[in-house]
Amino acid sequence: MKCGIVSLIGRPNVGKSSLINALLKTHALIISPKPQTTRNSVRCIWNDDNAQVIFTDTPGLYHVTNSRDKLGIFLNDAILDALDDTDCVLWLIDAGTRRLQPDDYSIAEILPKNRPVILVANKADKSDTSHAFRLYDNLHSFAAKIPVSAKTKRGIDTLMAAIMPHIPEGEAIYDPDILMDTTEKFMAGEIIREKVLMLLRDEVPHCVAVIIDEYKSPEEYPDRKKLYIRASLITETEGQKRIVIGANGSMIKHIGEISRKAIEEVTGLDVYIDLWAKVIPGWRRNPAALRRLGYA
Ligand code: GDP
Ligand code: MG
Repeated sequence: MKCGIVSLIGRPNVGKSSLINALLKTHALIISPKPQTTRNSVRCIWNDDNAQVIFTDTPGLYHVTNSRDKLGIFLNDAILDALDDTDCVLWLIDAGTRRLQPDDYSIAEILPKNRPVILVANKADKSDTSHAFRLYDNLHSFAAKIPVSAKTKRGIDTLMAAIMPHIPEGEAIYDPDILMDTTEKFMAGEIIREKVLMLLRDEVPHCVAVIIDEYKSPEEYPDRKKLYIRASLITETEGQKRIVIGANGSMIKHIGEISRKAIEEVTGLDVYIDLWAKVIPGWRRNPAALRRLGYA
């Protein structure tokens, strides 16, 4: 068994989130990201029978170039720590890069000297990578240079194959069985939260939390042949609750409908969603409530 940590670095907009999503489609699992609580935020855990690879995101480069303020300095240290703590670094660039930017020099400067760094040219579906590869070759000695497209999934398997030799022998850190469970449930909550935000952005921004009260896979409910999800939409006031419910329940019904379709798409299962609106007065200022809602 092999197990290791891979960290991703790159300018904003090069496709870090998209690459994580593409990796997720092949044998991978996400676990609950708790932003700002850990310095390395785990974004994706890739599993197969022989290996577990933990992908972490490093904080944004914006903070490196603005390191004069306190926050920047802290995050700058966090990047250095994160990079030091990994078995392999992926530097993600845009395949269509014509000229190097100050950011590129900043990244090159903080790359660990004693760890393999793979240069990953994303968006290879729309640009040839040879020019970008030549530019970046001047900045570092790379273990490999791989063109990928997070959009078309081209090169994703090649990338995994290039990463694998750098992953040390070791037992899996995360139990794949446990992960699958918490992950799907977490993902369902995130999807519902996203739909609430999309539909109610103007009326109740950030005042709605989602709790998954019950999550039963079809194996647990053979008679139903469906994934059963019961969730609560938590608001701070009765007024917000009325907005979430809508006239004659039209809004909460709509939220349930589009969430159901999205979760069906992700899980490939038939889904039944049961949504309830509840008030927890001032939940955003209440430590106990925050903990229960997964924010603490
Ligand atoms: P991040 O800021 O590095 O996390 O970048 P995102 O993953 O948010 O992607 C930034 C933009 O690039 C989005 O509009 C994506 O749709 C687009 N994008 C990401 N990967 C690809 C790709 O492989 N090909 C193309 N054509 N566009 C991509
Ligand atoms: Mg992103």
